[in-house]
Amino acid sequence: MYLKSLTLKGFKSFASATTLNFEPGITCVVGPNGSGKSNVVDALSWVMGEQGAKSLRGGKMEDVIFAGTSGRAPLGRAEVILTIDNTDGALPIDYAEVTISRTMFRNGGSDYEINGNKARLLDVQELLSDSGIGREMHVIVGQGQLDSILQATPEMRRGFIEEAAGVLKHRKRKEKALRK
Ligand code: ATP
Ligand code: MG
Repeated sequence: MYLKSLTLKGFKSFASATTLNFEPGITCVVGPNGSGKSNVVDALSWVMGEQGAKSLRGGKMEDVIFAGTSGRAPLGRAEVILTIDNTDGALPIDYAEVTISRTMFRNGGSDYEINGNKARLLDVQELLSDSGIGREMHVIVGQGQLDSILQATPEMRRGFIEEAAGVLKHRKRKEKALRK
């Protein structure tokens, strides 16, 4: 399994649709300060279901939508499409290629799709949760995050181990069932 491509449309500084294609192995994103490198990483965690505005380096969730520049009007929606190669079947879905998309409008929540079918956040989280990628899998290691892992409380450490063991999704399901 590897990430094949990421398309950003109206996401942060990417007003025009922009597609990045990746190959298996290491990809480096280089560019001047403020050119949007971190925005690409934000798009990756956003499409995988990130719910925290702060983790996306914004004040509120709508901050991911292109806010406009002196030469270009703000946009009303942001969309990110992630394509994952699944020929090794690492994702529990019967497709060799899996596409996850997330769309958000200024006045509303998020819509998710998996291979073109409407999905819930929970579906996206479950799809990714055993694969070693995804929102809480710590595969995206941000600046300062190594420090916080080293200084984590025992409870937080248990969370990391639960993720690694693949039991987190069951706990989430249980919590969800108990809330009903
Ligand atoms: P550095 O090398 O300093 O880390 P970077 O390449 O990681 O820079 P980013 O943080 O990805 O840069 O991009 C910052 C730019 O994105 C800023 O110019 C900021 O104005 C712009 N930006 C962020 N959110 C939005 C938005 N919603 N609409 C328009 N532009 C945005
Ligand atoms: Mg950066």
